[in-house]
Parts: sequence; C-alpha cells; structure tokens
Amino acid sequence: MRIHAIQTGTVKIKNAQVEGRGHGLRRQLALYTDGNWTEWLPTYTWAIEHPEGVIIVDTGQGVHLLETSRSYHPFLRWEVVFQIESEEEIGPQLRALGIGPRDVKKVVLTHLHMDHDGGLAHFQNSEILVSSDELRTASGWAGRVRGYLPNRWPSWFDPAPLDLTAEPFGPFARSRRVTQAGDIVAVATPGHTANHVSILVQEGDTTFVLAGDTSYNEALMLGGKVDGVSSNERVSKATLDAIKNFTRSRPTVYLPTHDPQSGNRLANRRLVSMTDHAASQAA
Ligand SMILES: [Zn+2]
Repeated sequence: MRIHAIQTGTVKIKNAQVEGRGHGLRRQLALYTDGNWTEWLPTYTWAIEHPEGVIIVDTGQGVHLLETSRSYHPFLRWEVVFQIESEEEIGPQLRALGIGPRDVKKVVLTHLHMDHDGGLAHFQNSEILVSSDELRTASGWAGRVRGYLPNRWPSWFDPAPLDLTAEPFGPFARSRRVTQAGDIVAVATPGHTANHVSILVQEGDTTFVLAGDTSYNEALMLGGKVDGVSSNERVSKATLDAIKNFTRSRPTVYLPTHDPQSGNRLANRRLVSMTDHAASQAA
C-alpha cells in the first residue's frame, strides 16, 4: 500500500473561518466581518495504491473555482479565493504518477464542499462513495444556498451511498469498511458538515487519518478549536476530542486537507506525539 499526497492548487479564507471566534450565530457570521486572510493554503487530495485497486479520497479543486469571485453567493464572492492551473487538477497529476482513470476503483468524498468535489469530472469510470445525507444537503437550490456547487457536478454524477453503521471504531460512533481487507475504514466525523466523514488508513501499527476539514491544521485539532463554519459547535468539539483521543491511543499521522504540513507529515510519517499533546495543553 502507498499513499500519495496530491495538491490541487491553493485557497485563501478568512482567519475567523479557520478558528471560530465567539459562539452561536456570532461565530458563524464572524468570517464575514473579518478583514484578515490566511496565507495561501494547500488543498490536498489522497491517492491510495491498494491491492484492491486505487482509492482516491477527495477530488480537490477544479479550474471552475476561479469563477467564484463572480458568484451571487456572498461566501463565494467575498470570503474565499482559489488558485489552480488545469494541470494541477487531480486527473493530470494522477496520470503523471502512472495512474489512469480506469485504475481508480473507488473515490470517497469526506464531504461535498467545492474544494473536495471539484475534480469529480476525472472519475467517470470509478465507483464514487458519498454519505446520502451529505448528498441530500448539497443538492438542488437548497444546496446552492448552503454554499455547495451541485450545478458543477458532472451530469453522470450518481454516487453510491457511503452510509455508516452504528459499529463504533475506537472513539468514533459510526464506521464502515472501505476495503474488503478492512484496512481502510470510513468513520463519522460530524461538525464541519453534519455528515462529514474521515478515512482511516491502517498500515502496520500506524493509522493515517485523511481528515478532510475536521480542522484546518493539527494544532487546532489538538486544541479543540472549532472552525467558523461548523453549524453545531458541540458536535464539532466532540469530533475534535474523539480524534485527539484516537491519536493518544495509537500511532497516528493526522492529515487535514488544508494543513500546510500535511504533505511533509505524510512523507516523513510524522506521528502526533505526546509532546504535541502537551504543547496544546500549554497553549
Ligand atoms: Zn469543507
């Protein structure tokens, strides 16, 4: 098994989105009044070369995101900026790794935000797995009002349901195997979106957490800092605590989509350490 980090361009958002300010509606509105932008953050996707076939986790940004500044949606128009060239989309980067469209057995999406489903067009030949509830939330006009871009899904997009069962996996209440071998498992990590999932890849005694947007970086997860867009702060905090407990219970490499360190962390198999835990307590 081999995991590749594939960076599909970069994104800038407001600091108040990365780390929520205040509570309740105030937290969710804070990013609209924050004048401070993050640096350019990477948008990672993951390609897992597995004996059962290549599995892709999230599809990253697409060049259509360069048009969001003309959107009527206030978040898209004012609160996010993307950078990507067409050769940075996931399809061309997979081909450069020697992985063709027909080699990809499954595509699993952590959630349907536009920087995670933006490369779907490259996977017409693959089984695509998405939470049914996330799909419902993202679909139609209601989905567009919520800031999703269902109008950018390929016409053939009809994902298989990634519906988790009440089988706990460590501290995560719901889970489902993604591989027959059981070494890749989807777990419920609600918060950033209500039906967000993360993908756990187990190799030897190490677990790689392909964490989507559970947090924007590792320090925020360890610090239990809820972002500015999660609808339910309590649920989000419980997910961050579950991930933190998981990283205490076994050797874990934590890989959020937009963490500038995720690429290096994967390459060096850098574990979340007890020193990291102690530092987050002191902060
Ligand atoms: Zn997201």
